[in-house]
Amino acid sequence: MSTAAAQQGRAPEFDDFASTIRGRVLAPGTQEYEEARMVRNGLIDRRPAMIVRCQGTADVADAINFARDHQQLVSVRGGGHNVAGNAVNDGGIVIDLSDMRAVFVDPVAKRAYAQGGATWADVDRETQLFGLAAPGGVVSSTGIGGLTLHGGLGWLRRKHGLCIDNLRSVEIVTADGEVRTASASSNPDLYWAVRGAGSNFGVVTLMEFDLHPVGPEVLLTAPAYRAKEAPKVLRFFREFVRECPDEVSSELLFWSVPANEHFPEELHGEQIVMFPAVYSGDPDEGERILQPTREIAEPLLDLTGRMPYTALQSGFDWAFPKGWLYYWKSLYLNDLSAEAMEETLKLGANRPSPEGFVALWQLGGAMSRVPADATAFGSRDAPFLLSFDVTWTDAADSERCIAWTRNAWSSMQRFGPGGLYLNFAGFGEEKEALVRAGYGKNYDRLVEIKTTYDPANLFRMNQNIVPMPVSAVAD
Ligand SMILES: Cc1cc2nc3c(=O)[nH]c(=O)nc-3n(C[C@H](O)[C@H](O)[C@H](O)COP(=O)(O)OP(=O)(O)OC[C@H]3O[C@@H](n4cnc5c(N)ncnc54)[C@H](O)[C@@H]3O)c2cc1C
Repeated sequence: MSTAAAQQGRAPEFDDFASTIRGRVLAPGTQEYEEARMVRNGLIDRRPAMIVRCQGTADVADAINFARDHQQLVSVRGGGHNVAGNAVNDGGIVIDLSDMRAVFVDPVAKRAYAQGGATWADVDRETQLFGLAAPGGVVSSTGIGGLTLHGGLGWLRRKHGLCIDNLRSVEIVTADGEVRTASASSNPDLYWAVRGAGSNFGVVTLMEFDLHPVGPEVLLTAPAYRAKEAPKVLRFFREFVRECPDEVSSELLFWSVPANEHFPEELHGEQIVMFPAVYSGDPDEGERILQPTREIAEPLLDLTGRMPYTALQSGFDWAFPKGWLYYWKSLYLNDLSAEAMEETLKLGANRPSPEGFVALWQLGGAMSRVPADATAFGSRDAPFLLSFDVTWTDAADSERCIAWTRNAWSSMQRFGPGGLYLNFAGFGEEKEALVRAGYGKNYDRLVEIKTTYDPANLFRMNQNIVPMPVSAVAD
């Protein structure tokens, strides 16, 4: 028996395992462990038995085999942004990919190969060296792992689709410890499933993305109007998005001027509706098309500018610091009826905290032209996503902020098809009902594939697809 293990009350097998891998095992009692167990959301305070900082696919395979053989709870950490804290657990093993962030670009084939722990900042930095980009999220510190494997909405969604629509293949270590490739020609069932429900099927160690020429300079228009103009801005938004080209991806943010150095002090806390839009094409053409969005009323502020694509991608990072408190939940909207607009305006004006916002995402374009059954992601028909990105800083407000979000989410259900974007799913507390709603008609096929690749549900710290019981499979 290892003396160190005995002294710290750990099973000796833990230390034996630690000595076999190339990476490191972080155990309780060290500062490094204390830092590694914290995720973006300060509400999450979990204490795993060990955190395995993997250095490569072999470490991941060993960690999976160890966890499975010792009946340990497993979670997988990509960028650690999941609001429910699915990257960490209490008492089990964290397969931590944060040292696996390498990115390689083949500019001729227009492909990027990124390890499963990379962030969008990592991918954008390497791909922009060649004037290329893969559709990613809108905050650069978010992991490509969680974001891509459950869809992936960003500024290129209407021009080039969701992240999964550009995911050509993955290397994935499944629950049996096997390293598999999933692509159109290799394990196509798994390839279908990882594009929307990826965290259920294994640890993705490598992603291959299609790249597109983007930038290096792109146009962001971002006028912010006073709250009293919100009805006018929302009506304009509804008409504008009906006609605009795929190059435009936009949203409305019901927000308050953040109290930080990026904004004039006299405006701090003032309620606004911001209309950010990105034009992924010629910026001159973008200026012409988007100019009317800046003239709906007299803007209180206007953050419009041409900027390097990497600056756009990290331009709002300051709004989401590590350790703030987050509870985000979303639903699709069928359209913007007069009643849906009225309710949206009320919720936008009565947000429970100034730091967070209510976001109305314009969908459609390339992402909506992929059939619902082509990937696990599910239906893409809805023209809008309404997302309650409720964020606050004082734990005393947690109950109130979470309750507000749940009520807002329930009250708007009548305007939608019943689906949601599973990357904005609160804590996933509705469990199977929520996951079914997220995947729609694809859910049953996902259960079958889950039963094939992960019959014991080793990967369950996620929006979980529960495999069929063994008896049902045997029958
Ligand atoms: C500040 C912020 C900004 C965001 N912006 C966007 C946005 O613009 N667009 C958008 O679509 N979403 C966005 N999201 C939501 C985001 O997509 C989810 O929070 C997602 O879960 C984050 O992925 P991650 O790898 O950082 O998180 P993690 O917490 O590390 O992981 C999330 C889930 O994915 C699993 N997972 C992660 N990596 C892997 C892997 N390599 N293999 C297998 N499973 C893995 C984890 O086990 C966990 O279940 C944002 C969230 C935050 C907090």
